Amino acid sequence: MPFSLTWLPQVLLDAGLKVAEQPGWRTRGRGDVGPIKGVMCHHTAGAKTGNMPSLGIVTNGRRDLPGPLAQLCLGRDGTYFVVAAGRCNHAGRGNWQGFTAGNTNFIGIEAENTGHLSGDKADPWPAVQMDAYRRGVAAILKKIRANAIMCCGHKEYALPMHRKPDPTFDMTDFRSQVSAIMAGIAPAPTIIPPTDSANRPTLRRGDTGKAVETIQTAVGVPVNGTFDAATEAAVRQFQRDHGLVPDGIVGPRTWATIAG
Ligand SMILES: [Zn+2]
Repeated sequence: MPFSLTWLPQVLLDAGLKVAEQPGWRTRGRGDVGPIKGVMCHHTAGAKTGNMPSLGIVTNGRRDLPGPLAQLCLGRDGTYFVVAAGRCNHAGRGNWQGFTAGNTNFIGIEAENTGHLSGDKADPWPAVQMDAYRRGVAAILKKIRANAIMCCGHKEYALPMHRKPDPTFDMTDFRSQVSAIMAGIAPAPTIIPPTDSANRPTLRRGDTGKAVETIQTAVGVPVNGTFDAATEAAVRQFQRDHGLVPDGIVGPRTWATIAG
């Protein structure tokens, strides 16, 4: 028997988001959820490379905590992975707006991020991921007819206070942007232009040609003219090393740095 949250993918798709349903998600859960009152935002504290390296842990759990650990994962490229339609172990003890049964009353979203703001593991949030985070939360809140205040960060809900640090971004800001999306007054999402001022094409996974070879030479991977997984990983690393948003896409800023 499927659990209650089978509406999740369609609500996200209707909001124009990328969605990947994971095998078995409809019947995955620690029993069913109760009445859904809100959404809780998390970060995975996972690896620094890859789009969604924590997907397996969120699905299956870890030694000290059985899975699933959230209904949704959000990759660095803004894709939502639908993991479970039932109850998940994401909240623990806490309180948000008087609701203390986090796992029963809140949908959990685990967004891929190391959770570090500085140092070797610093992981600036890609704009495309944050945009999808806000739009996904807005779509879910509309579906459950809740106000933006019913979106909380794990760090805001968790008790005792300071038990959890996630997510690293400012939740008050986040809620006001979610609220603007729900009201239909949000600015258009960040769109990367197809070429830069020197007419260099924006390149991403799957692209081919001479310009890709230039990128491959610059980031130090075998030159084969195809923007493959190894190229994308090297581009992300190059972007991190140069203080750029590590989205794995070579747009105007990354081109300027490479051509530097
Ligand atoms: Zn959390």
